Amino acid sequence: MLRKNYYNVTPCADNIYRIGSSEGVFMDLFVGSETALLLDTGMGLGDLRAAVRSVTQLPLIVVNTHGHYDHCNGNSQFADCPVYMHEADWTAYRYYCKPQNRIPVMNGAKMKKTGWNSTKTQNILPKDFDEYAYTHEAPVDLSPLEDGMIFDLGGITLEVVETPGHTKGSCALLHRETKNLYIGDAANAHIVLCIFNAPVSEYIKTLNRLKALDFLQMRPAHDTNWYDKSVLDDYLDCITHPDAHNFIRASSDARPNEQDYMYIRHGYTAADGQRPGFASFILSQPIQL
Ligand SMILES: [Zn+2]
Ligand SMILES: [Zn+2]
Repeated sequence: MLRKNYYNVTPCADNIYRIGSSEGVFMDLFVGSETALLLDTGMGLGDLRAAVRSVTQLPLIVVNTHGHYDHCNGNSQFADCPVYMHEADWTAYRYYCKPQNRIPVMNGAKMKKTGWNSTKTQNILPKDFDEYAYTHEAPVDLSPLEDGMIFDLGGITLEVVETPGHTKGSCALLHRETKNLYIGDAANAHIVLCIFNAPVSEYIKTLNRLKALDFLQMRPAHDTNWYDKSVLDDYLDCITHPDAHNFIRASSDARPNEQDYMYIRHGYTAADGQRPGFASFILSQPIQL
């Protein structure tokens, strides 16, 4: 029995709801007149299904922005719904469904860092968490998500935009009525390119493609702020003119036992995370000089 109320549901404009929790990742719920669509399912530590059903009883479609555990481990709670993910990320999803790979995610949640490279930790598991059930959930059947697909929910139109880089199959949803882009992890103060990722060259293509796309602002999955389209230029500058000496070594939630390389935009330091123009990307190997 998963704890109810683990998730907070915040109504936004346009019949869209943002669902957050101690997991540190947001999910977006779009409620049309005919159908509802849940974008991502988080780590699935609490009763996400009850949170969604507290908002709508409409037929539900689930879309995963990508196959990382913090965006799709809750899929099992929606086994009776169509669940869409780009095929290039199915391997990642199945990896995180194996008990031996779920146990580290669960143990990580018992001592989740309070920020990237923070030394403080907290236990974010609900009190009644069933460890065996969580680590033995069956994977759901996936349907392929492809560039240009349209989800018409009745008054809400969402178009799939492929954004490979952070993972090979990363996708965003463009809300046509507002021209807002729900971007998953393809935009972030720290662009993680070190697990199930595409080559850096692919991510650079994605950034250029997004620059040419007609949209107004981006909704990242790990931030409460909207991102202006201009951050794409900051990312491009950071990643196409990397400062090979401006990096720190640290582990992230995604790879807690590894020391990865976080390259910071030239002219900035790791302490400048809130400064306008800050950008960084995280690699598993150092840049070859
Ligand atoms: Zn991710
Ligand atoms: Zn994430």
